[in-house]
Amino acid sequence: MATAVGQLPIEHNVPIPTWFRIGGRADRLARPRSIDELRSCLEIDPDLRILGDGANLLVDDDGIDRLVVRLDHADWKSMEFDSRSGVVRAGAGADFAKVITGAVRKGLAGLEGLTGIPATIGGATVMNAGGRFGEIASCIARVHGIDHAGRSRTFERADIPYTYRSCGLNGIVVTAVEFHLTPDDPAAVRARLIDCMAYKRDSQPMGANSAGCCFKNPVLPRDIPDIGAAGTRISAGLLIDRAGCKGLSVGGATVSPRHANFFTTSSDAKARHVIDLMSLVQHRVADAFGIMLDREVVVWSRSP
Ligand SMILES: Cc1cc2nc3c(=O)[nH]c(=O)nc-3n(C[C@H](O)[C@H](O)[C@H](O)COP(=O)(O)OP(=O)(O)OC[C@H]3O[C@@H](n4cnc5c(N)ncnc54)[C@H](O)[C@@H]3O)c2cc1C
Repeated sequence: MATAVGQLPIEHNVPIPTWFRIGGRADRLARPRSIDELRSCLEIDPDLRILGDGANLLVDDDGIDRLVVRLDHADWKSMEFDSRSGVVRAGAGADFAKVITGAVRKGLAGLEGLTGIPATIGGATVMNAGGRFGEIASCIARVHGIDHAGRSRTFERADIPYTYRSCGLNGIVVTAVEFHLTPDDPAAVRARLIDCMAYKRDSQPMGANSAGCCFKNPVLPRDIPDIGAAGTRISAGLLIDRAGCKGLSVGGATVSPRHANFFTTSSDAKARHVIDLMSLVQHRVADAFGIMLDREVVVWSRSP
């Protein structure tokens, strides 16, 4: 069913595509075609939720009552590459993989280590997507967005409070991002991309339904023998593995035997299974090491 607010169509009771391939629906979903229509969305629901590629997202089985907004109109997917200056500009709805391959083709270095991270540009920017070969924050020059009052805002990289897996721009809808990349030999950039992809394919269950890493890698509060020294950021997957959780299941959700921080889902899984499995794993790791893991996966639920 669809209704309209002014010129903006609103769809009702819509499935939300996520990489877990399970979860509830959106009571209301809008696909704004312009900044003005995005402002209309904010007038309808100032606490709306932006859906990127759904690669780091779990939607509760009961669905979500907040307005869900998808920036999937062609205008949000624009990409421009300047191979001389290294400046790349992409809309928030652009596919991160296409931006990376576009940059690599132009011989622009910086993003190739992030290959294999499914995302829109908006989602990758907000989550500060990254891994063993770097994070997106180090390539960002400025971020354009609008705040929940509908005001256009531009943030220079130096003013963005980026931390591990967060951009710190709470309440901002990212609309476009400018990157500053480094001109390099295209063959060398491509070779690095291939190496990084091979590493990901070898270490992660790439074909399974998951949202990548469920938990953030924690900083150790104290020395833990055979794990790491106080103050170092260590792999949450290592702690989950050492706590004996590999292969652990709740309903249709399983801790991947391949990479313990990836939780995979079968087609009969419920979001509740993933949530319960995350809680079980958190408690087992806390019992084993005294560390409470912090979720990386974003969970959308109904308002209380
Ligand atoms: C197989 C697999 C491998 C992965 N590997 C990695 C990895 O190596 N490193 C890593 O960091 N992540 C990884 N992830 C997780 C995921 O790819 C990243 O977190 C990615 O940045 C999510 O982007 P998205 O567009 O899918 O965002 P979504 O999952 O759709 O949304 C995530 C959050 O970002 C917000 N958001 C999205 N777009 C906007 C916007 N325009 N403005 C404001 N807020 C917005 C959403 O509201 C939500 O809070 C992996 C996931 C999978 C499935």
